[in-house]
Amino acid sequence: MARKKIVAGNWKMNMTPSQAVKLVEELKPLVVSDDVEVVYCVPAIDIVPVVEAVKGTNVAVGAENMYYEEKGAYTGEIAPEMLVDAGVKYVIIGHSERRDYFKECDCMLNKKVKKAFEHNLTPILCCGETLEQREMGITLDWIRMQIKSDLKDVTAEQVASMVIAYEPIWAIGTGKTATTEQAEEVCKAIRDCIKEVYGADTAEKVRIQYGGSVNAGNAAELFAQPDIDGGLVGGASLKADFGKIVNYK
Ligand code: PEP
Repeated sequence: MARKKIVAGNWKMNMTPSQAVKLVEELKPLVVSDDVEVVYCVPAIDIVPVVEAVKGTNVAVGAENMYYEEKGAYTGEIAPEMLVDAGVKYVIIGHSERRDYFKECDCMLNKKVKKAFEHNLTPILCCGETLEQREMGITLDWIRMQIKSDLKDVTAEQVASMVIAYEPIWAIGTGKTATTEQAEEVCKAIRDCIKEVYGADTAEKVRIQYGGSVNAGNAAELFAQPDIDGGLVGGASLKADFGKIVNYK
């Protein structure tokens, strides 16, 4: 069965609750597609109003992060049960900004992925290389290491249901998109890695997104690649262009 494309917006630390609702309303007539699953990954404080605002549409809401403990003395953190109760379906785990600025390591991300599954949240697990790593020729080894570490002890069935986002760090928010060939090469390598560890059936089912300066002009070519099942979109998810990306065909 063909994999359904999935396009997720990563709003990052943008949009107050009232701005968030306004944006959802503006995007409503533009973000309509039966062929593509659409997710808005929004700041924690926007989750409740955005869940309310997307009611009656096909758009799902995601969180940009969560903690791996159930509850307790973790000031400032958000527990998975809180997300579920608020109506969240997806959660971004391991975005490069969290790996870099907040020092989230693969061991922690593995805990987060497993905890998300325990609560029936679908992880959007991010991976990607720096420019230096690409220039050193170690991109594929690095990505394989990230995937294997972050998915340690995750079952094949769980992997089949999740989303992996390949996001070259040098392409995030820079306006520099990976070429279609570069993006497809890594997304295929991710699928091959999943095949090696979990088997062909799981590899056929897992959805792999490309992220990094996706816009209305490059989405169609990127999403047409055999191993790219949609995109994780930062900057362009905050404007009308997001509608064009969802309707890339
Ligand atoms: C992101 O942060 O996930 C991202 C891909 O950002 P941008 O589209 O702005 O490069």
